[in-house]
Amino acid sequence: MRKVVLTGIREMELVDSAVPEIKNENEVKIKLSSIGVCGSDIHYYAEGKIGSQVVEYPFPVGHECSGVIEETGAGVTNVKVGDLVVVDPSVHCGECDQCLAGRPHTCRKNKFLGCPGQLDGCLSDYIVMPDFTCFPVNGKLNPVQAALIEPLSIGVYTVKLAQIKSTNSSVGIFGAGPIGLSVLMKLLADGITNIGMIEPLDYRLEKAKEVGAKYLINPDTENVENEIAKQEGLLLDVVFEASGEQEAITNAINILKPGGKLVLVGIPPDAQYIFDMDQMRRKELMVINVRRQNHCVEEAIEQVVSGKIDVEKMVTHTFTLEESSVAFDIVEGYKDGAIKAMIDL
Ligand SMILES: [Zn+2]
Ligand SMILES: [Zn+2]
Repeated sequence: MRKVVLTGIREMELVDSAVPEIKNENEVKIKLSSIGVCGSDIHYYAEGKIGSQVVEYPFPVGHECSGVIEETGAGVTNVKVGDLVVVDPSVHCGECDQCLAGRPHTCRKNKFLGCPGQLDGCLSDYIVMPDFTCFPVNGKLNPVQAALIEPLSIGVYTVKLAQIKSTNSSVGIFGAGPIGLSVLMKLLADGITNIGMIEPLDYRLEKAKEVGAKYLINPDTENVENEIAKQEGLLLDVVFEASGEQEAITNAINILKPGGKLVLVGIPPDAQYIFDMDQMRRKELMVINVRRQNHCVEEAIEQVVSGKIDVEKMVTHTFTLEESSVAFDIVEGYKDGAIKAMIDL
């Protein structure tokens, strides 16, 4: 089968590889249909690592995918051959303290698709996964929507963790990439409309407007703090940080009202931020960290099936598996209006 592997910094190759085989009775073999290129894949492609997670070459990346069940182990009951499935890339052990506490996403032995040292990624014709990672969506979602459930589920989980009490809440989002847009889509689906999007790329601001952001701020050309004060005299109830930028953290602390919440979902390049603790303490700000998602795949599916969220709005490009390196270059370079690139098989 065909498989795309990273072979160096900004280098990848399409290689011929053996089709993976089912080894446990709870496993399924999936023929991939659609794969999303994620910001985290780009970190591995362009930098060879995310924090302490370092790539050893050759390594296959990719974790946002949908596919059709081609074969099932003897013990599989939740899906059958021919089903189109959403694949949750996270494989938990089911036995550790975190799993038993209902936190499989922080499982001590968690293995994630396309994560170095854990599981090979899905940029290939086939993968084998445990049945519990598969959610059948026959006749409900198309393969592209199904592949986009993974990033959307992170937006769903992020909004859930924020525990926003009132639909009148004032909200800011830093970063209009796929995760910032997923957060925006879920907030709007929940009836929260007082949302400002802060993003330096004008084409991404345009997308945020199309999706439904109330107002837009470009931090390269406008003073974020002044613009927010103009919109919301009492400042913001909740800020979602989905850019990974220090400047966003600095702004966020200044534009939150006392008792406000700062929700961190972006991945900072250097793994460290500086916080103004004087402001943080005086305002008694709450900081919430987000690790991928927990039990939000079904809700994300429901949001798309019901039509509350049009997740395909974030897709700007579609490529073949052979064109994977072009897809990665475009996404990395923010070229050609790129937000979400899909690889269709
Ligand atoms: Zn992702
Ligand atoms: Zn576990």
